[in-house]
Amino acid sequence: MAGTGNPNFDVLIAGAGMTGCTAACLFADQGLRVGLVDSKSIADWDETTTCPRVSAINIASSNLFRYLKVWPGIERRRFSRYAGMHVWEENSEASISFDAREMGCRELGYIIENNAVTGALADKLRQHHNVSILEGTTITDRQLGRDRVILEMDSHRTLACKLLVGADGAKSRVRELSAIDCRHFDYQQDAIVTTVVPGESHRRTAWQCFLPTGPVAMLPLWDGRCSVVWSCDRGLSEELMALSDLEFESTLSGHFRQHLGEISVCDRRFLFPLGQHHAAQYISRRTALVGDAAHITHPLAGLGANIGILDTAALAQVVGNAHRTGKRIAGQPVLRRYERWRKGENSLVLATMKGFKTVFGTSAKPLVTARRLGLNVADDSIHLKQVFARYAMGIAGDIPAACRQ
Ligand SMILES: Cc1cc2nc3c(=O)[nH]c(=O)nc-3n(C[C@H](O)[C@H](O)[C@H](O)COP(=O)(O)OP(=O)(O)OC[C@H]3O[C@@H](n4cnc5c(N)ncnc54)[C@H](O)[C@@H]3O)c2cc1C
Repeated sequence: MAGTGNPNFDVLIAGAGMTGCTAACLFADQGLRVGLVDSKSIADWDETTTCPRVSAINIASSNLFRYLKVWPGIERRRFSRYAGMHVWEENSEASISFDAREMGCRELGYIIENNAVTGALADKLRQHHNVSILEGTTITDRQLGRDRVILEMDSHRTLACKLLVGADGAKSRVRELSAIDCRHFDYQQDAIVTTVVPGESHRRTAWQCFLPTGPVAMLPLWDGRCSVVWSCDRGLSEELMALSDLEFESTLSGHFRQHLGEISVCDRRFLFPLGQHHAAQYISRRTALVGDAAHITHPLAGLGANIGILDTAALAQVVGNAHRTGKRIAGQPVLRRYERWRKGENSLVLATMKGFKTVFGTSAKPLVTARRLGLNVADDSIHLKQVFARYAMGIAGDIPAACRQ
């Protein structure tokens, strides 16, 4: 690893979550000098405890991790493949099932602890001679120099870079310093996250039950347990958080008994407020936003981190092309190419998630009938299922080269 002495970088990335660490690996592999700054330490995996934050990582993201050669580091930690997905609406016969074999693949995706992903990426970054990691520090101010961005840090250090990447999450300081507007939408829902032991095998299947108050997902873990993501209207979430373990088990079992038997809880419950936001621009001068800094969506399809990872691959691809051909890596034409590419793709995902949330949250008779019919018709059509699955797996649309197999 390079020392942190030289304050001049080609690319400086604010935020060392899943998207920031991925971006750092991509740029460093292109031979660019990379600085990675985070207000905390990079989260690494702990063998003795399961991280409550797990993500469904799709095929496009796993292809990128293989391309970066960090997949063995993820496998050495912990992960679980899932080959099936079953989604149904409570109190009706409407349901849809996906099977990896019908899609001609071995798995639909993977369930991985977030810190197993950042830990594996950090292992690579710490050995990279092009990368300086600066932990426990934040950017306080940003000035535009003639051909650089100058950054004041809270440690009173000054750093400079040709390209600044904001991967600093929902409350992005880079977005704020760049005066990029952001449209917010509050779902008036929270997600309750916990880990449980199902009474019956999860059969490497991701289970999702749509209730009128929001979807509950059971994601299959490596050791037979499941990670629960229960999205529900505010008010109900407070009631669920206040239940005893026995009461919570019985409520959850009521929704999943037919597929997974009696559920036993084995961890505490964590609460995450749910909202959606979308930055009005992904770029400003010599600056680009990726991941949650640019967009946040409902976790019902498990796409948030995956589309952020696609952002990093797209940005690295256009910047890499410029670098190879001797163009300015943070020139406006280069950054505009990135914005046009990813903003269109992400707008579609965000609008679809908002639509799902509305259609599954309504009790209006015509929409309920259309929804039930739609689920059953789609379940009977291999072609429609292949279309949906390809989007969920991240292999539809305009995919960056590094995310293809
Ligand atoms: C309940 C729930 C379930 C989810 N499930 C899935 C799923 O199954 N699949 C999926 O793809 N997505 C899922 N998501 C979404 C996913 O978790 C996020 O999209 C993803 O973690 C965002 O990663 P990020 O690196 O962009 O941001 P973050 O993870 O927020 O990382 C930002 C980093 O920036 C640092 N930082 C913040 N401010 C500063 C600053 N001023 N200076 C320096 N550093 C700073 C932070 O310390 C942090 O390390 C889920 C989300 C929720 C809430």
